[in-house]
Amino acid sequence: MTFVSSRPRIAVLGAGIIGLSAAYELAMRRGARVTLHDVRAPGRGASWAAAGMLAPAFEAAAEPGVHPQLFDLCLASAALWPAFAQDLSARAGEPVGFDRTPSLAAALDAREMARLSQIAGTLSSAGIDHLVLGADAICELEPAISRAVLGGLELPTDLRVHNRRTVSALLTVLRASANVDFVSGPALLKSEAGRVSLDGHDAMLAAAGWETSIIKVKERGELYSLTNWDAALDDIDCHGGQMLSVAATAGAPQRVVRSGHVYLVPRGGQVVIGATVEPDRVIEVPEAGVIEALRREGVRLCPGLANAPVAESWAGVRPGTPDQAPFIGETVTPGLFVAAGHYRNGILLAPVTAQIIADALLGAPQGELAATFTTRRAYGATA
Ligand SMILES: Cc1cc2nc3c(=O)[nH]c(=O)nc-3n(C[C@H](O)[C@H](O)[C@H](O)COP(=O)(O)OP(=O)(O)OC[C@H]3O[C@@H](n4cnc5c(N)ncnc54)[C@H](O)[C@@H]3O)c2cc1C
Repeated sequence: MTFVSSRPRIAVLGAGIIGLSAAYELAMRRGARVTLHDVRAPGRGASWAAAGMLAPAFEAAAEPGVHPQLFDLCLASAALWPAFAQDLSARAGEPVGFDRTPSLAAALDAREMARLSQIAGTLSSAGIDHLVLGADAICELEPAISRAVLGGLELPTDLRVHNRRTVSALLTVLRASANVDFVSGPALLKSEAGRVSLDGHDAMLAAAGWETSIIKVKERGELYSLTNWDAALDDIDCHGGQMLSVAATAGAPQRVVRSGHVYLVPRGGQVVIGATVEPDRVIEVPEAGVIEALRREGVRLCPGLANAPVAESWAGVRPGTPDQAPFIGETVTPGLFVAAGHYRNGILLAPVTAQIIADALLGAPQGELAATFTTRRAYGATA
């Protein structure tokens, strides 16, 4: 799209890592003016609840129904993370805990061994660096792993970041920027003759995580959900996730270690243990029984954590889509853009999403990969 002003004003609706990273790209790198709206405390949604893994490798084994280019998008974003983390830390004057130590995937049973060898096969065919490890080798790399381990993978593509520090650093930089205004509360979007607008703004970016489709628009005095201006937004669903953290006592892992659906992430003197995936759960309160079951699974993987005191437990909501990949780009309504539905990879995908959406908003040429993540895509394709 083309703007009358050379410094367009963009409204970003939602200040999670996706909205904040988009605002960062637009305001700090491309000179646009941004108004960031959030109905709650900025940065405290799914982006706060996440573990901080930057893990493309597990998207390699594309399952039926998953967007066939999701793995490519994850790899593209993983490649942007080192520079993104460095630039952000330097501007904020705060570390964001970006750690390049490769993650480990461990198999404690034959089924998981088979899954890991499938992932290793896909990584090999794609020419992606990884190492197949026997039981002794994986225990040597990470002595905290259970001696019952059968083997595993070292994944140099899969790194980690302190997601809460990243969100805080983004807020620090954006709050200090003359290009950015924060508004607490919903934006007053209105629709006339099928077009959505917000007074004083050239374009709007809907980035409200799992609540994106229910952003409100006023038309002839009535409030309607945003999905009326792009029906695909109705496909954004929610998947609750519960997790805990324990103190990083002696015997705690130094690397990200995962096995099956459980993972352990060293983060700021604690170890995060995650996570459940619960379709339609939107309550941001953890259940004691679920947290204890997760803790036990974490201890099965790293037995040294058996007596580590629980530091915190919490629940968040992942925004999903039918093909587990985000919507990024202009909607079918001109001037209304979306960046939402990042499911389990929103932290990983923040830098690439920010670049794609800034290009789309400012009318820069879009790459082929970016074009496959708009709301116009069809679902159900397999790799
Ligand atoms: C338990 C768990 C573990 C995870 N672990 C990882 C991980 O290790 N690695 C990874 O890459 N991803 C992980 N994820 C996924 C990741 O957290 C999400 O994909 C990502 O945070 C989504 O970011 P977001 O900005 O879209 O949403 P959010 O962070 O939820 O932000 C949306 C914001 O929009 C605001 N909002 C809502 N309605 C409105 C409105 N009408 N107007 C304005 N603002 C509004 C909300 O208040 C909120 O601040 C995990 C998620 C969970 C739940």
